[in-house]
Amino acid sequence: MYPMPEDVSFYRKYRPQVFEDLVGQEHIKTTLLNALRKRRLAHAYLFCGPRGTGKTTTARLIAKGFNCLNLQKNAEPCNTCEICVSITEGRLIDVIEIDAASNRGIDEIRDLREKVRFAPTHAAKKVYIIDEVHMLTKEAFNALLKMLEEPPSHVNFILATTEAYKVPETIISRCQRFDFQRITIDVIVNRLKAIAEMEKISADEHALKFIARAAEGGLRDAIGLFEQMTVGNSLTFEHVKEYLGLVGEKTLSAFIACLLNRDVPHALEYINTLYQEGADLTQFNKECLGYLRDHLLSAVSKDAYNDMLRYLELISAFQEAHETLKSAIIPQLPLEMAIIKSCFGDRTHRAIRTAPTETETLPKVVSQAAQSAQQAQPTHSASPPTHQPSFDTLTFDLICQHWPRVLEHIKTPSTRMSLSQGTLTSLTAQTLTMNFNSRFHLEKVEAPKNRQEISTALFSVFQKHILLEYVLREIMLDPTTSALDRKTSFDSLPTVEKSEEVSGVALAEKTAELFGGVVEEE
Ligand SMILES: [Zn+2]
Repeated sequence: MYPMPEDVSFYRKYRPQVFEDLVGQEHIKTTLLNALRKRRLAHAYLFCGPRGTGKTTTARLIAKGFNCLNLQKNAEPCNTCEICVSITEGRLIDVIEIDAASNRGIDEIRDLREKVRFAPTHAAKKVYIIDEVHMLTKEAFNALLKMLEEPPSHVNFILATTEAYKVPETIISRCQRFDFQRITIDVIVNRLKAIAEMEKISADEHALKFIARAAEGGLRDAIGLFEQMTVGNSLTFEHVKEYLGLVGEKTLSAFIACLLNRDVPHALEYINTLYQEGADLTQFNKECLGYLRDHLLSAVSKDAYNDMLRYLELISAFQEAHETLKSAIIPQLPLEMAIIKSCFGDRTHRAIRTAPTETETLPKVVSQAAQSAQQAQPTHSASPPTHQPSFDTLTFDLICQHWPRVLEHIKTPSTRMSLSQGTLTSLTAQTLTMNFNSRFHLEKVEAPKNRQEISTALFSVFQKHILLEYVLREIMLDPTTSALDRKTSFDSLPTVEKSEEVSGVALAEKTAELFGGVVEEE
């Protein structure tokens, strides 16, 4: 949680004075306005929900609704009668706000019981608003219960809590309960925009979004942050970023692009750079989750099934990292593990354990063509073949089918890793074409020394000189790629198929490399 300003003047200034202005709690608004219209209000209400979602504001609106001398047709308070004005100014002695966090004992509640008996001084009804009611002691709850059981007709109670589960069932059953929801980012952003307009502040949309996200559904916190970060008459993203320690959307989207590409080396690099630059990794992880969630929801709305699966996979890994970040001995480690897990899936495990002795643990090859070829030959084993297959006529399918053996012939783990990231696409004459999504891996396989090793491996398997041509399909690591471009290019990727492309061998060695282990060769 960020340090939230205690004295929030924008918040007070723009606190809703009619139900109409209450944002994000539509169902509560409707129910209460109906009740006010019919003059059928409960003796006691219990408002549950996160901080800053409008509980106390609503309580004051009800107090006005009970007492307004000139209630409007739509059941809204008039806000001009003396009762309304004094409630707005917080000086009506018949509306009593009690903070249970600092008045939690039996004595305070006994004292309250004494005072409850007296009739209201100015208004028709006395309204007790008890905030953070869950803080009361057991004895105090018992005393409160007695009041709720036999409430004087001139008294109404509104209890508010952020932790409803700590409120005894006996109390809850005496109240009409309303659950306040976290306010959505869009609703918060719109409210901030309205305030910005009224205050003549030019506010960057990105900045507003980040504030809304950081406030975690609490409008009060959002308005507080907004006020605190406004300098002069403007709110800039740069300033918000500085204040909240944000890494910025460009870095974030470039990082996520690495994950979508399963480009582990670059993703790890991002984390280490961030760490060295002193970024708050917990905050970064939170932002990642927010970003991934936005994209997950967008994928759901578009029925983009593959995207959905991939985002779920990433969210689950980074959610797990969130749990361990707090107690991590090496601060970067939880995020590094999330990267590796989310890019390699549960195969990380299997690959280390069993090493590449069987076809199952070997790559499900590089393309669908290869997969179907494998299915057609279920008895094929990658352990030393009993006979050398004939390659008199070399076809694309044949190359795909035997590609795992080519990878096996490459002894340099990093070269093998990089080559396994490519996708075989075509064969013309003696030239084999391979696509790469990552410039990093493409440059790796193109290095003269590695090129040589790959050619040798090809020759060892097929007994022919085959030329390899590498094509960079999409540059998605460029942090300047716009969100729209990125989305489009990701959509065009065969996500699920891609997830099968990582070689079990390469994976085992890469993982062993990262964790200092050894992969046992058979
Ligand atoms: Zn009024």
